[in-house]
Amino acid sequence: MIRGIIFDMDGTLTEPHIDFQSLRRELGVMVGDIVDHLKSVDDAERRRLESILHRIEEDAAVNATLQPGAAELLDLLRARGIKLGLLTRNSRKSVETVLAKFSLRFDATLTREDGPHKPSPEPVLALARRWNLPPAEVLAVGDYVYDLRCAHNAGARAVLLINDKVPEWAHEADFVIHDLSELPAVIERIP
Ligand SMILES: [Mg+2]
Repeated sequence: MIRGIIFDMDGTLTEPHIDFQSLRRELGVMVGDIVDHLKSVDDAERRRLESILHRIEEDAAVNATLQPGAAELLDLLRARGIKLGLLTRNSRKSVETVLAKFSLRFDATLTREDGPHKPSPEPVLALARRWNLPPAEVLAVGDYVYDLRCAHNAGARAVLLINDKVPEWAHEADFVIHDLSELPAVIERIP
């Protein structure tokens, strides 16, 4: 029985907007984890990179479009008494921009400022604790492999939303959907 659902933001609740290759080019971080890289450089360089990142994220947030059916899905899940979380590696500011733009509400939102980030299990475990739910009753929905691994590392189940082509790591997902409207049927399949 699923009693908590944790959504990724970019590419999951909103249509994919951030072009990660051009983001990496602009930051000069072509390989490795961008958030980890920010932690590894000196203060001046970190401030420079963060200002680039914030500009790109804020532009993406202001221009974001919701995935079809996203708002209706959240209303339906809330009406069923399911706890709703938003977990993203984006900044708190860009999350607030998107939530205000579309009048979306979550029981909890965790951003990269809030501590260990995906694929660490910590954010999913933190939300499960906050909701007093065992991780097995929590489902994570995302469009990237880190979303899936974060959920599995915590003992939660993972749904992959495919936006474009099927990625090579799609087999890591417990369920695969191509549209958010498929999610209620997925939940019903989980005993
Ligand atoms: Mg995403």
